[in-house]
Amino acid sequence: MVDFTFNAKEQEIIREIRREGLVLRKYARYYDEHEEELPPDEFPEAKEFAHIDKMAADRGADATSPTAFYMCMLMHRTWGDMMRMKVPFTALGNASVTAAGTDEQKKRWAKTRLSMANTEPGCGSDSKAIETTAELDGDEWVLNGEKIFVTTGIRAEGSVIWATIDKSAGRGGIKAFVVMKGTPGFELVKKEKKMGIRSSDTAAFVLKNCRVPKENLLGMDPTVKKGGGGFKGLMKTFNLTRPGVAAMGIGNIMACQEFVAEEMAKEGVAVDYEAGQHKRSAIQQKMIELEAELEAATLCTLRAGWLADKGKPNNLEASVSKQKGGDISRRGAQLALEILGAMGSTHDQLVEKWFRDARITDIYEGTGEIQRLVIARELLNYTSKDLT
Ligand SMILES: Cc1cc2nc3c(=O)[nH]c(=O)nc-3n(C[C@H](O)[C@H](O)[C@H](O)COP(=O)(O)OP(=O)(O)OC[C@H]3O[C@@H](n4cnc5c(N)ncnc54)[C@H](O)[C@@H]3O)c2cc1C
Repeated sequence: MVDFTFNAKEQEIIREIRREGLVLRKYARYYDEHEEELPPDEFPEAKEFAHIDKMAADRGADATSPTAFYMCMLMHRTWGDMMRMKVPFTALGNASVTAAGTDEQKKRWAKTRLSMANTEPGCGSDSKAIETTAELDGDEWVLNGEKIFVTTGIRAEGSVIWATIDKSAGRGGIKAFVVMKGTPGFELVKKEKKMGIRSSDTAAFVLKNCRVPKENLLGMDPTVKKGGGGFKGLMKTFNLTRPGVAAMGIGNIMACQEFVAEEMAKEGVAVDYEAGQHKRSAIQQKMIELEAELEAATLCTLRAGWLADKGKPNNLEASVSKQKGGDISRRGAQLALEILGAMGSTHDQLVEKWFRDARITDIYEGTGEIQRLVIARELLNYTSKDLT
C-alpha cells in the first residue's frame, strides 16, 4: 500500500529542516545580488543542524520509503530558499554514475562531486543531436566539443560529459565520460549570469583533444548500441533526478503560498474552506486552487520516489512529477505576485526572488513540453520515432 503519512520522527525532521531553512533565508538575498561570488559549501550555523542527516538515517521501522522521504526533505529544504546555502557534495553527474557506471566506477567516484554536461550550443531538448565526439586512441578516449549550461560546473571536481562515438548511430552512439578538472584540453570558458537561482553556479566548457583513460567511459562498454541501449542507461539518470527537480520547485512554491497566506491573515483574510465556491472571494478561490495543485504535485513526486525504491519502472511518473512541479512553479509564483500586488515585487521580501528562481524548474532536466512528450509516449506506448 502507498502511504505517505510521515511518522513522528519524520515530522520532527521536517520541523528541524524548516528551522534550518529560516537561518538559510538570511543569506539568500546576498548571494542573489552577488552572483560572481561562490557561496561556501557550508553556512556559518551549519553545525547546529548537523544532526538532521543523522536523524534521517534512523527514522524507525515504520519509516516512509527512503527516496520518497528524500524528496520530502528536498521540498522543505528549498522552502528555506530555492538554492540553499548548504550544497550537497554530490551533483547531477553523480546520478549519471549511479545510473550508468560499473560497480568499480561507482566506488571510485563515490566521494567526487561531478557535474553533468549534456547540453551544447546546438543541442538541448534533443539529446541525440549531441555533436561532441569521443574517439578511442590506444588506451585513451579523445574528446572534442562544447558544453554549455552545466550546473555546478564551477565547483565540481569533474564532469560527466555526454559524447558520441559514432554520429551516424544516433542515440546508439552516445556514451558518457568522466573528465576531471585539470585534464589538459578540458577548459572552463564561462560562468553564466542568470535571471534566477544565482547562487547555483552554471558553467560552459570547451573540450579540445582532451584525453581521458579508457576506464573513464561509464559502463565500460565501447560498442555502439542498436536502439540506444547506452543512451537509455543514461536517460535513467533523469528518472532519479527529475522528481528531485520537481521537489525543489514545489518547496519554493510552498514558501510563496505560506508567505501569501500570512500576509492575507494580517489583513484579516482567511480562506474559508467550508463556504461554497460562490461565497468565496476570488483570492480565496485562487489560494484553494494553488493548495490543491501543490498537493497534487507533491503526491506525484513522492510516488515517483517510492516507485524507484520498489525497483519498479518510474519513467512515466518521473516525467509526470517534473511536469507538475514545473507547472506549479510557473503558475504558483505568478499567482503569489498577483495576490500580493506591488509588495510582491520589492526587494524587501524574498517573493520576487522566488518568482525569478521558480522559472528554471520548468526548463532544466527537460522542459515542460518535453515532459509532456515523454508522458504521451509512455501512455500511448509510442517510441520516440512515433512521437517527436
Ligand atoms: C540554469 C540552468 C542550468 C542547467 N543545467 C544543466 C546541466 O547541469 N546539464 C545540462 O546538460 N544541461 C543543463 N541545462 C540545460 C537545459 O537542460 C536545457 O536548457 C533544456 O533541456 C532545454 O534545451 P534548450 O535550452 O537547448 O532549448 P531547446 O531544446 O532549443 O528548446 C527551445 C524550446 O522549444 C521547445 N521544444 C523543443 N523540442 C520540442 C519538441 N519536440 N516538442 C515541443 N516543444 C519542443 C522547448 O520546450 C523549449 O520551450 C541547464 C539550463 C539552465 C538554464
